[in-house]
Amino acid sequence: MKTNEKYIIDEMFDKADVDAARLLLDESQHIVISAHQMPDGDAIGSCLGLAAYLRDKGKEVTVIMPNSFPSFLNWMEGAEDVLLYDRQRQVAEEAIAQSDLIFYLDLNAPYRMLELGSVLDNRQVHKIVIDHHLNPEIACDVLFSYPQASSTCELVLRFIHALGDYDLVSKEGAECLCTGMMTDTGAFQYNSNSPEFFILLAMLMGKGADKDMIYRRVYHSYNKSRYLLLGHILNNNIEYIDELHASIFTLSREEMRNAGYIKGDVEGFVNIPLEIQGMKLSISLREDLDKSPLVHVSIRSVDDIPANEMASRFFNGGGHLNAAGGRLECTLEEACQIAHKACQAYADILK
Ligand code: 5GP
Ligand code: MN
Repeated sequence: MKTNEKYIIDEMFDKADVDAARLLLDESQHIVISAHQMPDGDAIGSCLGLAAYLRDKGKEVTVIMPNSFPSFLNWMEGAEDVLLYDRQRQVAEEAIAQSDLIFYLDLNAPYRMLELGSVLDNRQVHKIVIDHHLNPEIACDVLFSYPQASSTCELVLRFIHALGDYDLVSKEGAECLCTGMMTDTGAFQYNSNSPEFFILLAMLMGKGADKDMIYRRVYHSYNKSRYLLLGHILNNNIEYIDELHASIFTLSREEMRNAGYIKGDVEGFVNIPLEIQGMKLSISLREDLDKSPLVHVSIRSVDDIPANEMASRFFNGGGHLNAAGGRLECTLEEACQIAHKACQAYADILK
């Protein structure tokens, strides 16, 4: 493990950044950690993994999320203490007012935190960003932005290690970090092709993180309504554009209500069409449950088909090369037409 640790850790970060972050940490006591809205396994895992470490270092840490996270992440250490800004605004704002350092994790732009973004922006304290999305736009003192990283959890582990504090990673902290490395790679299916990824994962397992247990907690935790919806989509709502190796499916508000939709039910559906042999692109168009007109768009692709470029050109969004998203303020039918145009625009590389 020792040789491997050296192989991994020393390369990615700039030493000056690590030293600057160390100084800010030494000078701070009340730390706020936050991530993007609709937090996923990587957002929650990275925040709670960093929080566990900082608490062990004697810091007072408050994790604040813009809104709620899926219940299958509730088991993580510190999850019960996470403040949800949309429901606990006052207590969250008190913590922000007392903070002397803010971490933004798994986040490249304040708007992805909804109203919490400007509240944190207005707080005049030192700020550190650790993230793997493209185009970071958060005002901060130290920026760790590495789009090539599998997950923010991977970066947090590297960060702790770079600070010389790997010994402080607890089993519970390791479980949090392992979760994000798992969920942001679709359980090690994509964005995880480097030996370093698995060395880092092995380091977490060495701390006692049980990846099989985490897999079951995260992936075998669904409601029946998820399968009602999935069956419905696959039988009725998916359109295959065979010559482009692409598919588009829709999900309306009414269909979700009829199936007894519970938040998180449709997570990952967009990946499923890519399980069909030869498929290269999958687009999901899902109506917002409350706001109208609003359609949430998710895109998944393979190889060098740029889902993020498609998201920014056609869907007011962005993301990673093979996993991107956006939003359209229009009806599902109009969104579908736009999705068809988007597919045609990439016909050359999809054929
Ligand atoms: P998902 O399809 O899981 O909602 O999103 C996949 C990825 O696309 C996210 O990790 C995020 O990087 C990116 N993404 C999703 N929605 C948006 C958006 O509205 N704007 C930008 N810039 N990226 C998005
Ligand atoms: Mn992430």
